[in-house]
Amino acid sequence: VKLGADFLTGNAPLSQRLKQAERRDRPSGPGTPRRVSGPTNLNDMRQRRNRGPKRGNVSPEDRIRKGGGRRSKRRIDPADLKSEATVESPVTVRELSEAIGRPAKDIISFFWRHGDMGKNVNALLTDDEAMEASLELGVELSFKDRVDLEDVLADRLESLPEDLEVFERPPIITILGHVDHGKTTLVDTLRKSRVVDDEAGGITQHIAAYQVEAEDGRRLTFVDTPGHAAFGAMRARGADVTDIIVLVVAADGGVMPQTVESIAHAKEAGVPIVVAMNKMDLPDANPEKVYTDLTQHGLQPQEWGGDTEVVGVSALKGEGIDDLLETLLLTAEIEELQGAEDMAAHGVCLEGFRDEGRGPIAWAIVQQGTLQIGDNIVCGDTFGRVRALYDENDNELEFAGPSTPVKITGLQEVPRAGVHFFQLDEIDEARELAERRDDVRLKERLLKRGTAAKTLEQIVAGDEATELPIIIKGDTPGSVEAIAGELEKFEHDEVSIRILHEDIGGVNESDVYLAASSGATILAFQVIPDDAAAALADKEGVEIRRYSIIYELFDDIRNALEGLLEPERREVPTGRAIVLQTFSISRIGTVAGCRILGGTIERNNRMHVIRDQTVVGSYSIGSLRREKDDVKEVREGMECGIRLENFNDVKEGDLLEGYRIEEIARTLDS
Ligand code: GDP
Repeated sequence: VKLGADFLTGNAPLSQRLKQAERRDRPSGPGTPRRVSGPTNLNDMRQRRNRGPKRGNVSPEDRIRKGGGRRSKRRIDPADLKSEATVESPVTVRELSEAIGRPAKDIISFFWRHGDMGKNVNALLTDDEAMEASLELGVELSFKDRVDLEDVLADRLESLPEDLEVFERPPIITILGHVDHGKTTLVDTLRKSRVVDDEAGGITQHIAAYQVEAEDGRRLTFVDTPGHAAFGAMRARGADVTDIIVLVVAADGGVMPQTVESIAHAKEAGVPIVVAMNKMDLPDANPEKVYTDLTQHGLQPQEWGGDTEVVGVSALKGEGIDDLLETLLLTAEIEELQGAEDMAAHGVCLEGFRDEGRGPIAWAIVQQGTLQIGDNIVCGDTFGRVRALYDENDNELEFAGPSTPVKITGLQEVPRAGVHFFQLDEIDEARELAERRDDVRLKERLLKRGTAAKTLEQIVAGDEATELPIIIKGDTPGSVEAIAGELEKFEHDEVSIRILHEDIGGVNESDVYLAASSGATILAFQVIPDDAAAALADKEGVEIRRYSIIYELFDDIRNALEGLLEPERREVPTGRAIVLQTFSISRIGTVAGCRILGGTIERNNRMHVIRDQTVVGSYSIGSLRREKDDVKEVREGMECGIRLENFNDVKEGDLLEGYRIEEIARTLDS
């Protein structure tokens, strides 16, 4: 290890410095030169994020001297006073105080003066609030975005970087359907007749994902999630891998309760459905009934002029399988599924387990990029360097590209199902991310994207929602229909109800997962959740609202919808003043000497400046004084000094009209 001068003068603990030096001089490992690491350079991001002294450069003595870090009370040193400052948005009062070198209490009292008593040192400020408070304290504030590595990774999931070579990747397919309609048999048949590599056999063992080959050599990837509840669970964690759903419906049975639930999950996920009408070999197979059932649930078969592909198969006899694969590939073509190999890999862990010889294993699917042996990855809250890759039959792989199912070894711990993995440049990055991961933060991000469980109150309190996603469960078909029908009548241009699923019977886990992945509320009329569903709802934060009186349900939902309506804002004039004289005061601005013509001017009013009967601008009041005293209000006949915020062009003879904004709640009928 070669030691540089900076290394010798550094004051980090020796072990740390040795590690840094080692890293600097190490060749970049297998797989170099590296492929581009996606849309953003994570190293850059990290450096930007970690501005300021690195932890490693602070000696233990330093840390002790600082008395446990920056949270300690500190005096504002005059040298800290600045006239310009930059902060990462959004800031808390404390962070702002540190950035602009003014005491937090001055910032808080600024808000108090403007009638906002709710701010404490930990309050999060909007950019406008931070800017106004700083200006008042003589500091010009600029903002830059807070860079969060987690967000950078989340962005990787949203879209492919531009200028990358893309190809048509294999579709990732999930098979759903009612119990006993033939899912397992279909999986076995697919694997037996069409597995890419059938050397290993072992068909009956459980498999998380596998690839099959169509007649023309094109591949399809199947994910084996046990049932639609698990499918919903994956989505609730934000892990969408499925491109197409195969809905298995037995030709002798038609659409059954779990078929309906599967349809609801598929629709909510926005994934195309291909129906495999199974057991066509049976004498009592009745395609017409299946078509009718499907149509009733919003899936009109192509045979009947709709756009749902229904393929007749017999999973048991292996008939119609080629047709099914052909239809799936056609659907994939329409979906234009793109894969890019030349970027940092990411994907989803379908299952985690420990293997006697190989240690922790992630059974995962690569979504984009190419995963190779030696790559550093973070996978949920664990991390590691990829030691070996295997396909579903335990054949070793050197790399795995888009849509490939793969078993990954080399992780520190067994990862959880449904978490994302990401390839990162540095193992330290992966370690740091794994350590900082926690469900609360993930949940927050999902909330931001609108895909996490919320209570009705949270939806209403949120500022973006315009629709209320709900699931209706009731005791009889009549009550469910009546509720759905009545709720659909709550119509309004700006807000609406979206019914994701309606059915009779108690609330089950599938309902809860559907709610969790879509941010929906469950309305349970005269039914209760089963134990498992209640526990799950608790864990996922899904709200189940129970009713036994139908009008209470309607009232609640009506109120919730009205809560989503933006309140009407109205200006209420409070008083008028005429400018008699103006004074220009250096560093403060123009103060207008006024007389109040009528009403009252209040300190927290905004003011229209009116000249020749035209409003030339509207500003908040910077200061309101009588004689030398700051005052809260000035009444008719009195004289006062008014300084407007950000406006120094007041002229003699201007009319100043004070007003406040009143918010009026709206109703659906207004
Ligand atoms: P799953 O619960 O959806 O996984 O259904 P299974 O695959 O376990 O199948 C349930 C039953 O239906 C089993 O007894 C299968 O042998 C039978 N089965 C599945 N597919 C077919 C088929 O195409 N034709 C006939 N006649 N029986 C089938």
